[in-house]
Amino acid sequence: MERPMETSSGLFHPSKIVAVGLNYFDHAKELNMPVPDHPILFLKPPTGLLGDGQPIVHPAQSREVHYEAELAVVIKDRVRNISAAEAPAHILGYTCANDVTARDLQKIDGQWTRAKSFDTFCPLGPRIATDVDPRNLNIVSRLNGVTRQASNTREMIFDVFRLVEFISGIMTLLPGDVILTGTPPGVGPMKIGDTIEIEIDHIGVLRNKIAGAEENRQSGG
Ligand code: MG
Repeated sequence: MERPMETSSGLFHPSKIVAVGLNYFDHAKELNMPVPDHPILFLKPPTGLLGDGQPIVHPAQSREVHYEAELAVVIKDRVRNISAAEAPAHILGYTCANDVTARDLQKIDGQWTRAKSFDTFCPLGPRIATDVDPRNLNIVSRLNGVTRQASNTREMIFDVFRLVEFISGIMTLLPGDVILTGTPPGVGPMKIGDTIEIEIDHIGVLRNKIAGAEENRQSGG
């Protein structure tokens, strides 16, 4: 079973997008970072949502805008304080996400809100797949057709169901809320004119071009 995404016309309205930092063993190894003992969370604003095929706008304030391929979880109903075992029944499905990040601004600010929150910095799509086991999915990113990230969700430090348990113990999750589950190794910069693709097994390919702010304004975006 599959559901179309409804982001481009604004019909898809999560109350929040909860994202997880450093959640792949292979990425922690790449960065020489210790494996965290609990998920590190941050929020992206729903105003950053973007559909498949729409342009990511490169903000003039940043000189280093990165892709991050991520599995996105879409919540089905209102939940609070549920266990990992209860989580699957409350998940609508899964889609591809790009946790677009202004890496230079992330370093300057020392926290992540500005770097992660520009309009168009949360592409999702191309569809919500409902019959998928999120614990064993190949996840890939390609920049202009060249593979940059290639891993599997079994490399996650905290799997999807443990993330739902952890997050629902902090905040009520509402229907349509989105959880971004972290990125594998190989993140890097995108330039204006580039095409970035995120592909996950049994979900599909999320494809977006990078546009300059001026170009986008002229096209009425
Ligand atoms: Mg990320």
